[in-house]
Amino acid sequence: MPPERQPTRSWTLLSALGALGPRRSGTAGSARALSWLSETLQQSGLAVDRQAFLAPNRTLYFGPAVTAIVLVALSVLQIADRALVGTLVPFLMWVALVPLCGELLAMGLNCDLILPRTLTYNLEAEVTGSGPGEIVLVAHHDTQWSSWLFHPKLGLRLRWYFAAFYLGLFGVPALSTLAAFNGHPWVLPTLGALTALLAVLTLSLVAAAVFGQDVVGANDNGSGVAVAMALAERAKAAVAEGTWPEAAARLRLLLTGAEEVGERGMLHWLKTHRPQPAEVVFVNLDNVAGGTLRYLEKEGMLLPLRYSPALLQVARGVAANSGGALTTGSPLLLPTDMMWTSAQGYAAITFIGQRDDGTIPNYHWPTDTVDQISMQHLAEVEDTLFAYLSAVWQEADRSLNTAES
Ligand SMILES: [Zn+2]
Repeated sequence: MPPERQPTRSWTLLSALGALGPRRSGTAGSARALSWLSETLQQSGLAVDRQAFLAPNRTLYFGPAVTAIVLVALSVLQIADRALVGTLVPFLMWVALVPLCGELLAMGLNCDLILPRTLTYNLEAEVTGSGPGEIVLVAHHDTQWSSWLFHPKLGLRLRWYFAAFYLGLFGVPALSTLAAFNGHPWVLPTLGALTALLAVLTLSLVAAAVFGQDVVGANDNGSGVAVAMALAERAKAAVAEGTWPEAAARLRLLLTGAEEVGERGMLHWLKTHRPQPAEVVFVNLDNVAGGTLRYLEKEGMLLPLRYSPALLQVARGVAANSGGALTTGSPLLLPTDMMWTSAQGYAAITFIGQRDDGTIPNYHWPTDTVDQISMQHLAEVEDTLFAYLSAVWQEADRSLNTAES
């Protein structure tokens, strides 16, 4: 029998946060979790700033669904009477796609234009240090709406569902444009077939939005929040004890809201703080408790956004000395908070726990509960990430903040 290990700080925090239940953006559960997080950070001696902002609900479901309903309706109109609507229908279709494209490309015009929004919050605190450069330790506190889309048996095949959906979303306007400008006999029947496919997929997505449920989000992202809070306390102690040179850097803890509905908390923080890219680096913790801890090298749904070469270099060094506790990850299907930082030219990196096949255990599924997480593994993750943060701290005076390779 291995010796009994004392619960680590991250385990204690994760257990308490998990006991509060789901924390989906804009819900009462989220408000409860935010109060508890604020109090706990204050008890650790941190001055917490709470930033309010508006974010849409369930963007992942309603963004594509609303867009697709508009496209299907316009397509039916065009098929019914092509002469009457002329080129107006395809034009309106391309306009209808703008918010969703903004979402996919991390642009300013996004689904905020078409979805109702509710109030939610970021929590942040300046942790320690007095150096010129700042390390922002990021973890999102909100949870996702679970549905059959994330059934564990579906796994990475979810990619094919998304691919079919986007084939419909972009194929229907493309065929509609062709139909408006040339009369090839195959165009209208093909448009009809693709519209029917899009309608069926939309119904399945609406069903997912209606018949889903909230999840506790122990791994996603209670784990990231708990480990980030524990690391903040350890960093503060390391500076107080003199093991970390105080003037090397500054550490800020940022617990973002509304990550699961389009990374709106991170976007809001960047908009309101506007830090100089040369003065700040972002280290993001998301789903860190399952599988093997990994660092990602890039992300992005349509265009890959590469992470900071300097931050990746430090990660490779820590991984080499970790005895397998840290390794490289596989690209994700959905974005993280670092989509916005990377899109805006900031140096960033994401740490995430994945199995060898790239899946995340209990991902957006009702089984994402604290009892699925190993206390021993979480302790290792906390130690590995503390080693990473230490290394970044020691090197913060060198140019870590170059986002481009
Ligand atoms: Zn998630």
